[in-house]
Amino acid sequence: MNSIDFRRHIHQYPELSFGEHKTQEFILEQLQAEGIECRAIAGTGVLAKIEGRKGNLKRAVVLRADIDALPIKELTEVEYCSRNEGVMHACGHDMHAAMLYGVLCRLNRERNFEGTLFGIFQPGEELNPGGASMILAERPFEGYDVAAVIGQHVDARLDVGQVGICPGVFMASNDELRFWISGHGGHAARREDINDTVTAMADMVVRTTALNTPNSVVSIGKVIAEGATNVIPGEVYAEGTMRTFASEEREHIYTLLAANANAIEQKYGVKVKVDISRGYPSVTNDVMLAYEAMIVATDENITVREMGRIPMAEDFGYYTECYPSLFYRLGVGAASGGSHTATFLPDEAAMDYGERMMLRMALHILNK
Ligand SMILES: [Zn+2]
Ligand SMILES: [Zn+2]
Repeated sequence: MNSIDFRRHIHQYPELSFGEHKTQEFILEQLQAEGIECRAIAGTGVLAKIEGRKGNLKRAVVLRADIDALPIKELTEVEYCSRNEGVMHACGHDMHAAMLYGVLCRLNRERNFEGTLFGIFQPGEELNPGGASMILAERPFEGYDVAAVIGQHVDARLDVGQVGICPGVFMASNDELRFWISGHGGHAARREDINDTVTAMADMVVRTTALNTPNSVVSIGKVIAEGATNVIPGEVYAEGTMRTFASEEREHIYTLLAANANAIEQKYGVKVKVDISRGYPSVTNDVMLAYEAMIVATDENITVREMGRIPMAEDFGYYTECYPSLFYRLGVGAASGGSHTATFLPDEAAMDYGERMMLRMALHILNK
């Protein structure tokens, strides 16, 4: 099967995060038909392995694609439109998987490299805790010297034929924040009998958003205080998001949030509960790998766009915490529409560029 047909099949039968059973079955079947060694991993993922013809087999490169879809009802009119009602490959993961399949097929036929090549078809990128953390928890690369983990993501802001590469910190960590402030509610006119939970939360929100810096985002998007003109509620709730580009920055803000909570308790005589639901860590590209990728792309006549940081999150960050890694963007053109929308349709012409980029990078590193 060629990559385009592979992509269209996966597109037609999208499955939600951690429920990629049929997708997994299909990938295993197709890899086995090509004689590629593979097995299930992290529940609904697939790990493929190809050994080169020479060199130290303990030296490895890992190529990663994600395979999950989103709870969106597809509104495109292509003949390979989603047949799973209310589920859609609206983030391009069908393409990521197909390009990885294409690269593995070619490298398996030639095996013209040194060391071992792994391919990860990773479940659950779109949902906490992220499939990447589950893959790594199984320690599939123990005993290997992993020279690079490489992943790519389609991007409609870049044209077909372009790749976007960012040396160093690239994408943000993403945590969910929740606050509860409780105290004695009561008649709003009897201030001596109440704790002003509403003012306490207002103060908490101001202190929290004061933590924004050029390197971090802290936003509160929801506050619920269900009192009335003359009622101070016993509890007020707020929630928001926090994004940072470095683990030290992230830990530092956690400490400041706790200090703020303490200060609010002292000042208003209330009880403050803070819950931080940790999301993905930031994606930090290996600087050398990023520059090597720029050279490889140029050799392949793929246009390089050097990118800056973007405040979006990706569970690829877990790999970048463990191994030298590179995550780059693959242009699919503005006509593809917006990702995570019902009409997103990335241009398949980009797949050739994505496959060549991944394949050349793998060979470049393995044969170094
Ligand atoms: Zn997505
Ligand atoms: Zn995605």
